[in-house]
Amino acid sequence: MMAAGAFKLHPNHVVNTMGIWQKEFFTGLLLFLAVSIVGGMTGLFMPMALLLTLGILMRQFFQINRFEKWIRTGGQSKYPETSGIWEEIYYHVYRIKKNEKKRKKKLGKMVDQFRQSTEALPDAAIVLGPNDEIDWANKAAREVFGLHSSDKGQRIPNLIRFPEFIRYLRSENYTEAVILPSPVDNRITLAVRIIAYGAGLRLLLAQDVTQLKKMERMRKDFVANVSHELRTPLTVLKGYLETLQDMDDGESFLLTTSFQQMQGQTERMQHLVDDLLLLTRLETQQKKTECINVPALLSQICKEAETLNGNVAKALHPVRISLSLETDVNLMGEEQDLRSAFTNLLVNALKYSPDNSPVKVRWYSSDDGVVLDVEDQGEGIAATDISRVTERFYRSEVKRSKKVGGTGLGLAIVKHVLMRHDGQLYISSELGKGSRFSCHFPVKRVCD
Ligand code: ADP
Repeated sequence: MMAAGAFKLHPNHVVNTMGIWQKEFFTGLLLFLAVSIVGGMTGLFMPMALLLTLGILMRQFFQINRFEKWIRTGGQSKYPETSGIWEEIYYHVYRIKKNEKKRKKKLGKMVDQFRQSTEALPDAAIVLGPNDEIDWANKAAREVFGLHSSDKGQRIPNLIRFPEFIRYLRSENYTEAVILPSPVDNRITLAVRIIAYGAGLRLLLAQDVTQLKKMERMRKDFVANVSHELRTPLTVLKGYLETLQDMDDGESFLLTTSFQQMQGQTERMQHLVDDLLLLTRLETQQKKTECINVPALLSQICKEAETLNGNVAKALHPVRISLSLETDVNLMGEEQDLRSAFTNLLVNALKYSPDNSPVKVRWYSSDDGVVLDVEDQGEGIAATDISRVTERFYRSEVKRSKKVGGTGLGLAIVKHVLMRHDGQLYISSELGKGSRFSCHFPVKRVCD
C-alpha cells in the first residue's frame, strides 16, 4: 500500500486500466460459470444466481460506503487496502488530491511573495472591490491614509473624504492622477491613481509627490518673481530709449541703428516677461467665468490681427484672414484668457506662412461640443516637433525665408487656457503644406 505523503505507485498497482476492467469482468464471468455449473448440477441455479448478484451488490455497497467515508474526511489520509478497480479509483483520487495540495502550496507561496513585495513598496496600494470597499492595503497605504486592519471591507469614500477624490472615484475616468493631501498629514501631497482590472476590481496607487510639488511651486514662484521684478526696469529702459530716439538727429548711423536694435530687444524682453506673467497667472489664479460671446470676440481678434499684419491699406495687401462663424454658440470662460489664446493661434498662422497666403478661422459645432479651427498654408511643423511645440520656450528649427521673432511661449499659453476651459488642442500639420490648430471645447462649456 502506498504511504500517504510519498507519492509513488503502489507495488500492486495495475497501470493498465483495460487490464483491470478485463480482470473484473473475468472474475464475474468465472463466478457466474461456477454458479451455472453447481446450480445446474444441484438444480438450484436461480437461488444461487440471486445469491451471487446480492453478494456482488453488497460488496459494491461496502466499497462505496468506505470510499464516501474516506473522501468525506478529505481524501488526504492513507487510503484503505483494496484491490481491483476500487484500488484504481482510490489511487487516482488520491493523486488528484495530492496534486491539488501541491498546487495550493505553490500558489500560497506565490501569494505570500507577492504580498511581501507589495508590502515593501514605497507607494501606497489598495485593492478595491466592486462597491469601492477595501479588499487589501499595503503598509504604505495604511500609513499615508491612516488605515487600520479593521478597515478591511469598509468603503473607501467613507475613509478618504476629499470631494476631489470622491469625484475622481465616481468619474470612472482614471487616465490622470488626482492630487490630494494625505488625510493623516496635510504636509504630504499624494498623486492618487486608480487602475481598473478584472471584473469590477480596481487598484488604487498613491505616490508621495510632496518634493515634486514643492519644487514646482518654487519654480513658479521664482518665474513669477523674476518676471515681476523685471517689469519696472524694462519700462524705465524703454522710456529712456524712446526719449533718446526722439533726441536722435540721425547724424550718426551707428547711434540710430543702435537705438533701433535696443528698442527691438527691449520690446522682445517685454513680450517675454508679459507671456511669463500670463502663464503664471493661468497656473495660479482662481477661475472667474462668464458667458463669452465668442463670435464677437473672434471678429474683433481677426480685425486686430489683420491690422497688425499691416493690411490697413487693403488695396496694397489683400485680406488674408477669412472668418467663418458656422454657429453662434458662446462659451463659459474668461474673456481675457480666450482672447490671448485665440490671438496667439492667429498671429502664429500669419507669422509662419508667406506674406500673402490665406488663413482660415472657423467656429463650428461638433458632436461633442464646439470647435475653433485656425488653419494656414504656411511652413508647417515637422511630425517630430508637433508634440513639443506646446512646451515652454520650444521653437522648431525651420529654414525660413523671413526672420520670425517669438518667445516660444505662445502655444504653452494656448494649452493652459484650454486646460482651464476643459478644452483640448489638436494640431495637424505637414511640412511645407500648412497647419491646423483645433481647440475643442466640451458641451458643458457652451452657454447662451
Ligand atoms: P513662438 O511663435 O513665439 O515661437 P509658440 O509657442 O507660439 O512660440 O510656437 C512654438 C513653435 O511652434 C514656433 O516657434 C513655431 O516653430 C511652431 N509653430 C507655431 N505655430 C505654427 C504655425 N501656424 N505654423 C508653423 N509652425 C508653427
